[in-house]
Amino acid sequence: MTQPIAQTAQTPPSRPVLRPDAPYPNTVKPYKPGFAERLYLPLLGGLMVTARHFLRNLFGKKMYTIEYPEERRAYSHRFRGHHILTTRPDGSVRCVACFLCAQNCPAECIHIEAAEHPDVNIEKYPVVYEIDMLRCVFCGYCVDACPEEAIIMSNNYDMAYFTREQSIVGKNDLMKPYTFDENLLGYRPLFPEEDVQRAKMRRDAFNLVEAARQAQERETAKAAAGR
Ligand code: SF4
Ligand code: SF4
Repeated sequence: MTQPIAQTAQTPPSRPVLRPDAPYPNTVKPYKPGFAERLYLPLLGGLMVTARHFLRNLFGKKMYTIEYPEERRAYSHRFRGHHILTTRPDGSVRCVACFLCAQNCPAECIHIEAAEHPDVNIEKYPVVYEIDMLRCVFCGYCVDACPEEAIIMSNNYDMAYFTREQSIVGKNDLMKPYTFDENLLGYRPLFPEEDVQRAKMRRDAFNLVEAARQAQERETAKAAAGR
């Protein structure tokens, strides 16, 4: 037969006890400002800094204020701003709905719904592609993960929304080219040799697709003529 476990009295950890003979202060001395403080001289020092900046901005060469939105700060070419979904030469979205960007997104803010592409040479395409801009942390992992260079980031940082719904940006808005000047594009992996190689592969792939399409058209025309 098992014996009941004996309950032992838990003694609380000892707490420091105030010694009655310790020299604790029982009065608080009020703060006494010095002579300069009573004349508000430190305040004049702060006002002089403000006046110096004001005069430098007014008459000097260097202006610290940027008159946004008329004037914009020049950001690095690797700045990670609003995303762009790039397109093929025919204007269709380049994304093949492989979900790699969504899998790599640490904020889980990419939502994709895939469908079969009408072109047999392209497996899938995104019917829905949405990014929740308020959840996005602009890390660029989606750009790094994309094997198709279908998603890149622009230099555009105008992202003000009036409602929560507006912050979820859909495929059509992502395909709008905000800054499509090559020099103004934002973050994308920049490996010149690889870019050339990839561009060639992409051109070859387009040529293959085009050749297949033309062959299909010829077959259809031949079948229609034979009837
Ligand atoms: S930039 Fe980062 S957080 Fe934003 S969608 Fe891409 S992977 Fe997600
Ligand atoms: S954007 Fe790129 S990584 Fe994301 S689903 Fe499309 S092809 Fe894949």
